[in-house]
Amino acid sequence: MAEPGAGRYAPSPSGDLHLGNLRTALLAWAFARSSGRRFVLRIDDLDRVRPGAEQRQLDDLAAVGVDWDGPVVRQSERRPLYEAAIERLTAAGLTYECFCTRREVQKAATAPHGPMGAYPGTCRELTEPERIRLRAEGRPAALRLRATVTEFEVHDALHGCYRGPVDDVVLRRGDGVAAYNLAVVVDDAAQDVDQVVRGDDLLPSTPRQAYLATLLGLPVPHYAHVPLVLNPAGRRLAKRDGAVTLTDWRALGNTPGEVVSALAASLGYIATSSSELLARFDPRRLPREPWILDVNGLLQHSRCP
Ligand code: GLU
Repeated sequence: MAEPGAGRYAPSPSGDLHLGNLRTALLAWAFARSSGRRFVLRIDDLDRVRPGAEQRQLDDLAAVGVDWDGPVVRQSERRPLYEAAIERLTAAGLTYECFCTRREVQKAATAPHGPMGAYPGTCRELTEPERIRLRAEGRPAALRLRATVTEFEVHDALHGCYRGPVDDVVLRRGDGVAAYNLAVVVDDAAQDVDQVVRGDDLLPSTPRQAYLATLLGLPVPHYAHVPLVLNPAGRRLAKRDGAVTLTDWRALGNTPGEVVSALAASLGYIATSSSELLARFDPRRLPREPWILDVNGLLQHSRCP
Protein backbone atom coordinates (compact mmCIF):
# COMPACT_ATOMS: atom_id res chain seq x y z
CA MET A 1 0.00 0.00 0.00
CA ALA A 2 1.21 3.54 -0.73
CA GLU A 3 2.73 5.51 2.14
CA PRO A 4 0.21 7.88 3.68
CA GLY A 5 0.84 11.49 2.69
CA ALA A 6 0.59 14.51 4.93
CA GLY A 7 -1.92 16.80 6.55
CA ARG A 8 -1.18 20.49 6.84
CA TYR A 9 -1.96 23.81 8.37
CA ALA A 10 -1.45 26.87 6.21
CA PRO A 11 -1.96 30.14 8.05
CA SER A 12 -1.75 33.56 6.43
CA PRO A 13 0.64 35.68 8.49
CA SER A 14 -1.64 38.70 8.59
CA GLY A 15 -1.94 38.80 12.38
CA ASP A 16 -2.05 36.61 15.46
CA LEU A 17 -3.96 33.33 15.34
CA HIS A 18 -7.24 33.52 17.25
CA LEU A 19 -8.97 30.70 19.06
CA GLY A 20 -10.81 29.70 15.91
CA ASN A 21 -7.55 29.36 13.98
CA LEU A 22 -5.95 27.41 16.83
CA ARG A 23 -8.94 25.09 16.97
CA THR A 24 -8.74 24.42 13.23
CA ALA A 25 -4.98 23.84 13.51
CA LEU A 26 -5.48 21.35 16.35
CA LEU A 27 -8.12 19.55 14.31
CA ALA A 28 -5.93 19.41 11.18
CA TRP A 29 -3.09 18.08 13.31
CA ALA A 30 -5.31 15.48 15.03
CA PHE A 31 -6.80 14.34 11.69
CA ALA A 32 -3.28 13.86 10.29
CA ARG A 33 -1.64 12.26 13.30
CA SER A 34 -4.57 9.94 14.02
CA SER A 35 -4.36 8.61 10.45
CA GLY A 36 -0.59 8.04 10.51
CA ARG A 37 0.14 11.02 8.29
CA ARG A 38 2.93 13.50 8.56
CA PHE A 39 1.93 17.06 9.36
CA VAL A 40 3.43 20.03 7.55
CA LEU A 41 3.18 23.74 8.07
CA ARG A 42 3.04 26.24 5.27
CA ILE A 43 2.97 30.00 5.56
CA ASP A 44 0.59 31.43 2.96
CA ASP A 45 2.40 34.75 2.63
CA LEU A 46 1.45 35.84 -0.88
CA ASP A 47 -1.01 38.39 0.51
CA ARG A 48 -0.86 40.75 3.43
CA VAL A 49 2.01 40.03 5.79
CA ARG A 50 2.27 41.61 9.22
CA PRO A 51 5.86 41.77 10.46
CA GLY A 52 6.47 39.34 13.31
CA ALA A 53 3.16 37.53 12.81
CA GLU A 54 4.69 34.36 11.37
CA GLN A 55 6.94 33.75 14.36
CA ARG A 56 4.13 34.45 16.82
CA GLN A 57 1.89 32.03 14.93
CA LEU A 58 4.55 29.30 15.05
CA ASP A 59 5.12 29.95 18.78
CA ASP A 60 1.38 29.77 19.51
CA LEU A 61 0.95 26.55 17.54
CA ALA A 62 3.84 24.98 19.44
CA ALA A 63 2.41 26.24 22.73
CA VAL A 64 -0.91 24.41 22.16
CA GLY A 65 0.98 21.24 21.22
CA VAL A 66 0.78 21.27 17.44
CA ASP A 67 4.06 19.91 16.09
CA TRP A 68 5.10 19.55 12.49
CA ASP A 69 7.49 17.61 10.30
CA GLY A 70 10.25 19.14 8.23
CA PRO A 71 10.95 22.78 7.61
CA VAL A 72 8.24 25.41 7.50
CA VAL A 73 7.51 26.28 3.87
CA ARG A 74 6.77 29.82 2.71
CA GLN A 75 4.80 30.50 -0.46
CA SER A 76 6.81 33.64 -1.16
CA GLU A 77 9.84 31.40 -1.77
CA ARG A 78 8.15 29.08 -4.27
CA ARG A 79 7.51 31.24 -7.28
CA PRO A 80 9.26 28.89 -9.79
CA LEU A 81 6.88 26.07 -8.85
CA TYR A 82 3.84 28.23 -9.50
CA GLU A 83 5.27 29.55 -12.76
CA ALA A 84 5.96 26.01 -13.97
CA ALA A 85 2.31 25.09 -13.34
CA ILE A 86 1.12 28.25 -15.11
CA GLU A 87 3.35 27.42 -18.06
CA ARG A 88 1.82 23.96 -18.34
CA LEU A 89 -1.70 25.36 -18.33
CA THR A 90 -0.71 28.01 -20.86
CA ALA A 91 0.89 25.43 -23.15
CA ALA A 92 -2.42 23.53 -23.05
CA GLY A 93 -4.30 26.67 -24.13
CA LEU A 94 -5.96 26.97 -20.72
CA THR A 95 -5.05 30.54 -19.75
CA TYR A 96 -5.76 34.07 -20.93
CA GLU A 97 -4.84 37.58 -19.95
CA CYS A 98 -7.45 39.60 -18.08
CA PHE A 99 -7.24 43.37 -18.04
CA CYS A 100 -10.29 44.02 -15.87
CA THR A 101 -9.80 46.19 -12.82
CA ARG A 102 -10.93 44.86 -9.47
CA ARG A 103 -13.88 47.22 -9.68
CA GLU A 104 -14.94 45.98 -13.10
CA VAL A 105 -14.74 42.39 -11.91
CA GLN A 106 -16.81 43.15 -8.81
CA LYS A 107 -19.44 44.90 -10.87
CA ALA A 108 -19.61 42.10 -13.42
CA ALA A 109 -19.53 39.39 -10.77
CA THR A 110 -22.63 40.73 -9.05
CA ALA A 111 -24.60 40.65 -12.30
CA PRO A 112 -27.86 38.71 -11.92
CA HIS A 113 -26.74 35.83 -14.15
CA GLY A 114 -24.08 33.23 -13.43
CA PRO A 115 -22.92 31.81 -10.11
CA MET A 116 -22.37 34.22 -7.22
CA GLY A 117 -19.04 35.97 -7.44
CA ALA A 118 -17.98 34.11 -10.59
CA TYR A 119 -15.95 35.96 -13.19
CA PRO A 120 -18.20 36.31 -16.26
CA GLY A 121 -15.35 35.92 -18.76
CA THR A 122 -15.17 39.53 -19.95
CA CYS A 123 -11.61 39.16 -21.31
CA ARG A 124 -11.95 35.54 -22.45
CA GLU A 125 -12.56 36.23 -26.11
CA LEU A 126 -10.39 39.32 -26.60
CA THR A 127 -8.65 39.35 -29.95
CA GLU A 128 -4.88 39.67 -30.15
CA PRO A 129 -5.11 43.31 -31.44
CA GLU A 130 -7.37 44.14 -28.47
CA ARG A 131 -4.88 42.59 -26.09
CA ILE A 132 -2.05 44.54 -27.66
CA ARG A 133 -4.02 47.76 -27.28
CA LEU A 134 -4.84 47.09 -23.63
CA ARG A 135 -1.24 46.19 -22.86
CA ALA A 136 -0.12 49.40 -24.55
CA GLU A 137 -2.51 51.34 -22.31
CA GLY A 138 -0.40 50.06 -19.45
CA ARG A 139 -3.20 48.01 -17.89
CA PRO A 140 -1.58 45.33 -15.71
CA ALA A 141 -2.82 41.94 -16.87
CA ALA A 142 -3.78 39.12 -14.56
CA LEU A 143 -3.69 35.61 -15.96
CA ARG A 144 -6.88 33.57 -15.71
CA LEU A 145 -7.78 29.96 -16.18
CA ARG A 146 -9.85 29.18 -19.26
CA ALA A 147 -12.14 26.80 -17.38
CA THR A 148 -13.83 24.14 -19.44
CA VAL A 149 -16.48 23.34 -16.84
CA THR A 150 -18.79 25.53 -14.78
CA GLU A 151 -19.16 23.16 -11.83
CA PHE A 152 -17.09 20.51 -10.15
CA GLU A 153 -17.79 17.98 -7.42
CA VAL A 154 -15.66 17.15 -4.41
CA HIS A 155 -16.08 14.77 -1.54
CA ASP A 156 -15.77 16.15 1.96
CA ALA A 157 -15.56 14.09 5.14
CA LEU A 158 -18.06 16.35 6.92
CA HIS A 159 -20.15 17.71 4.07
CA GLY A 160 -20.34 14.64 1.84
CA CYS A 161 -20.66 15.32 -1.87
CA TYR A 162 -20.26 19.01 -2.54
CA ARG A 163 -20.84 20.49 -5.95
CA GLY A 164 -19.90 24.09 -6.55
CA PRO A 165 -19.14 26.63 -9.23
CA VAL A 166 -15.89 26.79 -11.16
CA ASP A 167 -15.07 29.99 -12.98
CA ASP A 168 -12.07 31.44 -14.75
CA VAL A 169 -10.05 31.86 -11.56
CA VAL A 170 -7.04 34.13 -11.44
CA LEU A 171 -3.80 32.14 -11.63
CA ARG A 172 -1.39 35.05 -11.57
CA ARG A 173 -2.41 38.43 -10.23
CA GLY A 174 -1.80 41.70 -12.04
CA ASP A 175 1.19 42.34 -9.76
CA GLY A 176 2.85 39.17 -11.06
CA VAL A 177 2.30 37.13 -7.87
CA ALA A 178 0.71 33.68 -8.04
CA ALA A 179 -2.90 33.68 -6.87
CA TYR A 180 -4.03 31.74 -3.80
CA ASN A 181 -6.11 29.14 -5.66
CA LEU A 182 -3.17 28.13 -7.84
CA ALA A 183 -0.54 28.27 -5.11
CA VAL A 184 -2.56 26.14 -2.70
CA VAL A 185 -3.06 23.40 -5.30
CA VAL A 186 0.57 23.36 -6.42
CA ASP A 187 1.88 23.43 -2.85
CA ASP A 188 -0.39 20.73 -1.48
CA ALA A 189 0.75 18.38 -4.24
CA ALA A 190 4.42 19.35 -3.92
CA GLN A 191 4.28 18.82 -0.15
CA ASP A 192 2.61 15.45 -0.59
CA VAL A 193 -0.49 16.72 1.21
CA ASP A 194 -3.32 14.27 0.67
CA GLN A 195 -5.54 15.51 3.49
CA VAL A 196 -6.77 19.11 3.69
CA VAL A 197 -8.52 20.05 6.94
CA ARG A 198 -9.48 23.71 7.15
CA GLY A 199 -12.31 26.08 8.04
CA ASP A 200 -15.59 25.58 6.21
CA ASP A 201 -15.45 29.15 4.90
CA LEU A 202 -13.11 27.68 2.27
CA LEU A 203 -15.52 24.95 1.14
CA PRO A 204 -16.91 27.09 -1.73
CA SER A 205 -13.37 27.48 -3.18
CA THR A 206 -12.74 23.75 -3.08
CA PRO A 207 -14.39 22.72 -6.38
CA ARG A 208 -12.19 25.27 -8.19
CA GLN A 209 -9.09 23.94 -6.50
CA ALA A 210 -9.91 20.29 -7.11
CA TYR A 211 -10.64 21.08 -10.77
CA LEU A 212 -7.33 22.91 -11.09
CA ALA A 213 -5.51 19.96 -9.53
CA THR A 214 -7.18 17.64 -12.05
CA LEU A 215 -6.15 19.85 -14.98
CA LEU A 216 -2.56 19.80 -13.72
CA GLY A 217 -2.67 16.03 -13.37
CA LEU A 218 -2.25 16.30 -9.60
CA PRO A 219 -4.06 14.12 -7.08
CA VAL A 220 -7.09 15.68 -5.38
CA PRO A 221 -6.62 15.53 -1.59
CA HIS A 222 -9.17 14.24 0.92
CA TYR A 223 -11.05 17.21 2.33
CA ALA A 224 -12.59 17.93 5.71
CA HIS A 225 -14.01 21.41 6.15
CA VAL A 226 -14.59 21.99 9.83
CA PRO A 227 -17.04 24.42 11.44
CA LEU A 228 -15.74 27.84 12.36
CA VAL A 229 -15.80 29.60 15.68
CA LEU A 230 -18.30 32.44 15.67
CA ASN A 231 -19.06 35.27 18.05
CA PRO A 232 -22.47 35.51 19.76
CA ALA A 233 -23.72 37.64 16.84
CA GLY A 234 -22.99 34.70 14.52
CA ARG A 235 -20.05 36.38 12.83
CA ARG A 236 -16.55 35.05 12.41
CA LEU A 237 -14.43 35.57 15.51
CA ALA A 238 -12.31 38.71 15.26
CA LYS A 239 -10.01 40.81 17.38
CA ARG A 240 -12.78 43.20 18.35
CA ASP A 241 -14.59 40.34 20.11
CA GLY A 242 -12.21 40.71 23.07
CA ALA A 243 -9.71 38.17 24.32
CA VAL A 244 -9.37 35.96 21.26
CA THR A 245 -5.65 35.17 20.98
CA LEU A 246 -3.41 32.98 23.08
CA THR A 247 -1.50 36.08 24.16
CA ASP A 248 -4.78 37.65 25.35
CA TRP A 249 -5.65 34.54 27.32
CA ARG A 250 -2.21 34.28 28.84
CA ALA A 251 -2.41 37.91 29.92
CA LEU A 252 -5.60 36.98 31.78
CA GLY A 253 -3.76 34.25 33.68
CA ASN A 254 -4.69 31.18 31.61
CA THR A 255 -2.07 28.60 30.66
CA PRO A 256 -1.90 27.21 27.10
CA GLY A 257 -3.14 23.92 28.60
CA GLU A 258 -6.29 25.68 29.78
CA VAL A 259 -6.80 27.03 26.30
CA VAL A 260 -6.38 23.53 24.85
CA SER A 261 -8.95 22.29 27.40
CA ALA A 262 -11.45 24.92 26.29
CA LEU A 263 -10.87 24.06 22.62
CA ALA A 264 -11.10 20.32 23.31
CA ALA A 265 -14.33 20.86 25.29
CA SER A 266 -15.79 22.75 22.33
CA LEU A 267 -15.16 19.59 20.28
CA GLY A 268 -16.74 17.34 22.90
CA TYR A 269 -13.50 16.08 24.50
CA ILE A 270 -12.03 16.31 27.95
CA ALA A 271 -8.32 16.85 27.35
CA THR A 272 -5.73 19.15 28.81
CA SER A 273 -3.09 18.66 26.12
CA SER A 274 -2.94 17.99 22.40
CA SER A 275 -1.70 14.45 23.04
CA GLU A 276 -4.69 13.69 25.28
CA LEU A 277 -6.94 15.06 22.58
CA LEU A 278 -5.21 12.91 19.97
CA ALA A 279 -5.57 9.77 22.11
CA ARG A 280 -9.37 10.27 22.15
CA PHE A 281 -9.83 11.82 18.74
CA ASP A 282 -12.44 10.28 16.47
CA PRO A 283 -12.89 12.19 13.20
CA ARG A 284 -16.37 10.68 12.78
CA ARG A 285 -17.58 12.38 15.94
CA LEU A 286 -17.12 16.05 15.23
CA PRO A 287 -19.61 18.82 15.85
CA ARG A 288 -21.24 19.90 12.59
CA GLU A 289 -22.26 23.27 13.97
CA PRO A 290 -20.07 26.32 14.56
CA TRP A 291 -18.82 26.91 18.07
CA ILE A 292 -20.38 30.11 19.35
CA LEU A 293 -17.82 31.67 21.61
CA ASP A 294 -18.83 34.32 24.06
CA VAL A 295 -15.33 35.26 25.11
CA ASN A 296 -16.45 37.40 28.02
CA GLY A 297 -18.85 34.80 29.32
CA LEU A 298 -16.23 32.09 29.04
CA LEU A 299 -13.58 34.12 30.82
CA GLN A 300 -15.95 35.05 33.61
CA HIS A 301 -16.86 31.43 33.97
CA SER A 302 -13.23 30.32 34.04
CA ARG A 303 -12.41 32.86 36.70
CA CYS A 304 -15.38 32.03 38.96
CA PRO A 305 -15.69 28.23 39.01
N1 GLU B 1 -4.09 30.60 4.23
C1 GLU B 1 -5.49 30.37 4.25
C2 GLU B 1 -6.11 31.05 5.46
O1 GLU B 1 -5.41 31.31 6.43
C3 GLU B 1 -5.85 28.92 4.33
C4 GLU B 1 -5.59 28.24 3.08
C5 GLU B 1 -5.98 26.78 3.09
O2 GLU B 1 -6.07 26.16 4.15
O3 GLU B 1 -6.16 26.26 2.00
O4 GLU B 1 -7.28 31.33 5.42
